[in-house]
Amino acid sequence: VDDPDAVEFALCWDQPMGVLERFPNLKCISSLGAGVEHLLSDHTRPEEVPLVRVVDEHLKQGMAEYVMHGVLEHFRRFDDYRSQAKLSQWKYLKIPHIEVSGIGIMGFGEIGRFVAYRLADFGFNVSGWSRGPKPADQVRHFFGSDKFNDFLNCTDILVCLLPLTPETENILDTRTFNQMPKGAFLINVGRGAHLVEDDLVKALDSGHLSGALLDVFREEPLPEDHPFWSHEKITVTPHIASVTNAATASIQIIENYRRATDGRPLIHQVDVGRGY
Ligand code: NAP
Repeated sequence: VDDPDAVEFALCWDQPMGVLERFPNLKCISSLGAGVEHLLSDHTRPEEVPLVRVVDEHLKQGMAEYVMHGVLEHFRRFDDYRSQAKLSQWKYLKIPHIEVSGIGIMGFGEIGRFVAYRLADFGFNVSGWSRGPKPADQVRHFFGSDKFNDFLNCTDILVCLLPLTPETENILDTRTFNQMPKGAFLINVGRGAHLVEDDLVKALDSGHLSGALLDVFREEPLPEDHPFWSHEKITVTPHIASVTNAATASIQIIENYRRATDGRPLIHQVDVGRGY
């Protein structure tokens, strides 16, 4: 950048820490995705500059596809059938009725709500959990830390769609797993730092959890020698659950650029105090 003074809008993903300090005339900083922890953790970020993020139908749809796949694959026991097929075994395996299978969505926000309703439309018994109260039909809704255990108690498949904040970091730990019924399954599509990795391995090895589908990790790319790669009950995907769609996201990013330079209120602004 030849003239840092001329830069008024920053669009960031995984930016080098401290880079935003170089632009004294920023009017808005936009995340290139739904999450903003990469911006909030940069303490050199000019605090007076508002933050915005992407809220997009394509992002919600992509996430619904990923989670629906993970849920159905586990629910219909495709892993077990793959193992049986390797041994040429033709064997019927029982599954519970769809209506009694509890899916719990942690984070009942823009993406979590969309995913919850798609699963409920399909026939699953879905619950959502968030910080505060929300209107919810078709889906059971729990909110606040005092209702977390009630939410977990009826969750056979847990989907983490929380933002990463100081309150939600390490939330997927032994205490959480122990509140879920034996044989429960985990899908983490929030952030890697939501999960205490050793606690997951212990829960899987003891048989308390039956498996996990993980899309996000503390270190990305997941290191080649990481034990998750070879764990027979873990499926790893490379942070692809839902990727920002350039064609649709650019419309709202340009809209925010125009609003910021005109001094008008922004859309999808982040509540910095809340952390998401
Ligand atoms: P959002 O609209 O901000 O929703 C966040 C939800 O989490 C809200 O329901 C919020 O509760 C809840 N929440 C926050 N802190 C909480 C706490 N301490 N206890 C209980 N609930 C809490 O965010 P979004 O657009 O749905 O995105 C969610 C996250 O998905 C992103 O931050 C990102 O980490 C992840 N994501 C991953 C991918 C991927 O490819 N893997 C793609 C997109 C997004 P309230 O409703 O009460 O505020």
